[in-house]
Amino acid sequence: MPEIKKIINEQKINQALEETKNPTNERINEILNKALKKRGLTLKEVGYLLNTDDADHLEQMFRAAAKIKNDIYGERLVFFAPLYISSYCVNGCAYCGFHKRNPAPRKKLTLEEVKEQVKILEDMGHKRLLVEFGEDPKNNPIDYVVEVVKAIYNTKSGRGEIRRANVNIAATSVEDYKKLKDVGIGTYQLFQETYHRDTYEKLHNGPKADYERQLFAHDRALEAGLDDIGLGVLFGLYNYKFEVLGLVSHAQYLDEKFGVGPHTFSVPRWQPADTVTIDPPYPVSEQELLKIIAILRLAVPYTGMIISTRERPEIRAKAFEIGISQTSAASKTSPGGYGQNQELSQFNIFDPRNLDEVLKSILKQGLLPSFCTACYRQGRTGQVFMDLAKPGNIHNLCRPNAILTFKEYLEDYASAEVKLLGKKIINKYFNLIDDKQVRQETKIRFQKIENGERDLYF
Ligand code: SF4
Ligand code: SF4
Repeated sequence: MPEIKKIINEQKINQALEETKNPTNERINEILNKALKKRGLTLKEVGYLLNTDDADHLEQMFRAAAKIKNDIYGERLVFFAPLYISSYCVNGCAYCGFHKRNPAPRKKLTLEEVKEQVKILEDMGHKRLLVEFGEDPKNNPIDYVVEVVKAIYNTKSGRGEIRRANVNIAATSVEDYKKLKDVGIGTYQLFQETYHRDTYEKLHNGPKADYERQLFAHDRALEAGLDDIGLGVLFGLYNYKFEVLGLVSHAQYLDEKFGVGPHTFSVPRWQPADTVTIDPPYPVSEQELLKIIAILRLAVPYTGMIISTRERPEIRAKAFEIGISQTSAASKTSPGGYGQNQELSQFNIFDPRNLDEVLKSILKQGLLPSFCTACYRQGRTGQVFMDLAKPGNIHNLCRPNAILTFKEYLEDYASAEVKLLGKKIINKYFNLIDDKQVRQETKIRFQKIENGERDLYF
């Protein structure tokens, strides 16, 4: 079979969707029981879940997804912020505010400006960034990307520092990916946007219009040794049922070929931006987005899932319960956006709250915020990470690490109200650390943080 068909076989996906219409209660029950064993689902099984809108089925799916979320990721929610570096782009993606026909002035941060932005984010309490660049070989060459990542890691403000820089750059060569590996990025994230080839080719022009260049980019990144890989779809461009099967199929392919599935899925819905004139051809409702999140959680349980500030706080809160493990907060989507510059932005955001406000609401939900970056720094990436995650052993690390990193936040950045709420949540989950020794060691490190030490992790 040609390699491309192993990643995405449109005929197989369409057939899976065709053959799974109107699932019975028994079939849905059977699939959910299988999903609860946390060994994943076949494309056809995912098709059945996608093909029901029955309110009871949806409720059952949300309950099962919440159970898996809780078993694997527990009460924790990892925070990061996007950092837009350059809006120069040679592509004309029809859905994006940075498309090349947009006459608005472009902005590319100097290394000094990068440092200023990073300091602002560190002063908010962020430890993890997703660093974003438009595609432009002249303005954003790989050596500039490397220099930016170095500048990020070298910038400290007070007790603040960025401990993990995840990167989103256009599909590129193994050689370029090796440079990202060498500079120590965390996850390499690249969205297919849509897995539907005709739609992809219609909505793109410029180098990104090459569907296969995009589709095989993760293979090249993995070959270069970047073993934490993020996949994503921009929901709204094509039928969401097809896209979910595309994501699952891509994840299964990577798992089979490299022995390691994607580290994360992102599930953005298209949102308006200045000068973007397309109406999303296949709009996805908020309820459908929640269904997508639940189904991905059931189908690919060990891949983390990210939601951005494109969604309203109410939807984000529900999404945290049924599958999301990482979220951005207090985001700006233009280069220099964290200062005064509010120029050209990639898309509009629908959760404008600051980090402290978002934390307050998730604490009230009973969740534990985490700024943990431990795995990547301990070399627990790719297969090593999956070997820990699959038997459920990662729990013993994530909970204490979440407690310690959130404790740092409480000491250094929190408002009085978040301090109060945070203390209660930390006590609650500290008592749930199973391993006695780890609990004892967490207590010791907790004290060290109160005494001014930082960056203590398991
Ligand atoms: Fe450029 Fe990315 Fe926007 Fe496309 S989606 S126009 S590649 S910034
Ligand atoms: Fe993520 Fe590893 Fe930290 Fe858990 S311990 S939150 S998996 S980095």
